[in-house]
Amino acid sequence: MPGGTPCVPGAWRNGAVDVESEDAGGTMAKRAAGRTKTKCKYRRVVLKISGEGFGKPGGFGIDGKSLRRIAEEILGVVELGGEVAVVVGGGNFLRGATLATESPVHEATAHYMGMLATVINALALQDMLESLGQPTRVQSSIAIQSACESFIRRRCVRHLEKGRIVILAAGTGRPFVTTDTAAALAAVEINADALLKATNVKGVYTADPKKNPKAEFQKSLSYNEVIDKRLKVMDFSAVDMCQQHDVPIVVFGLMTAGNMKKVVMGKHVGTRIGA
Ligand code: UDP
Repeated sequence: MPGGTPCVPGAWRNGAVDVESEDAGGTMAKRAAGRTKTKCKYRRVVLKISGEGFGKPGGFGIDGKSLRRIAEEILGVVELGGEVAVVVGGGNFLRGATLATESPVHEATAHYMGMLATVINALALQDMLESLGQPTRVQSSIAIQSACESFIRRRCVRHLEKGRIVILAAGTGRPFVTTDTAAALAAVEINADALLKATNVKGVYTADPKKNPKAEFQKSLSYNEVIDKRLKVMDFSAVDMCQQHDVPIVVFGLMTAGNMKKVVMGKHVGTRIGA
C-alpha cells in the first residue's frame, strides 16, 4: 500500500503483543509499545542494503562495526513502529557478472554464487540484530533448510506483523538479475509502503559525485526521469516494477546516523522517486 497507508492490522497493533521467549530482556515489548503509536509515514518498508554496506569501504567481507551500525539504524525504524523487511546484497563477496568475465565460471553459476553470498550477509545481520534483542527471521529464495526458512510470502508478512524483522536472502533465487530487482519484487509482494535503498552517497545525482564534481544532487525524481535519463539508481527493471505498482522509492545515505529513521518518518532525506 503505497503512500503511507497503514497496512492490514496485525494483533500487536491492538495491543495483543506476542512477546516471545526469545525476548528475555523485554526489548520486544518496548519496541511493540512504540509500534502502537507509530510515527511512520511508511509503516511497512523493504530496505535494500548492498553488500558493500557490510564491509569496510571498498573492502571484502564483513566488518563488525559496519554490521552493528546497519543493525542500529534498522532498530531505530522498528522503535518508531515500522515493519522492516531487509533485502541484502552480496557484492562485498562477489557479483556474478564480474566473476563470469574474469574466469571460466559459467555466468549462471557465478550468479548463483552471488546469491549464496547474500545468505552470508543475511545470517550475519540476523545474529547482530538478535544480539541487540530484536527477533528476526531469515527467509531465502534458495532453499537452505539447515540455516534459514524459505521465502513464503504469507509467512513473511506474519513475521512482520509480529514485530520480527525479516531478512530476505538469495535475491530472486534466479540468475542474471540483482538484489535490486529482488527488493522491488518483495516490496510489491508484501504490500510495502516504500522501498528504501541505502547507499554510500546522499542520494541520487545527475552523475557519479565521486568522479564528477559537477554532479548535481536530486531531491526528487519521477520514475520516468530515472529511466529516461538512465540514472544509476537501481536496475531499471526494479524501478519499472515500483512504477507499475505505485511503490515510492527513497534513496538515502547510510553513512549518516539516524537517516533511515528520518526517511521512514517522511522527513526529506535523500532522493524520493515516485509518480
Ligand atoms: N544475484 C542473482 N539473482 C538475484 C540476486 C542476485 O543472480 O536475484 C547475484 C548476482 O550475481 C549479483 C550477486 O548475486 O551480482 C550479488 O547481488 P547484488 O549484486 O545485487 O549485490 P549488491 O551489489 O547489492 O551488494
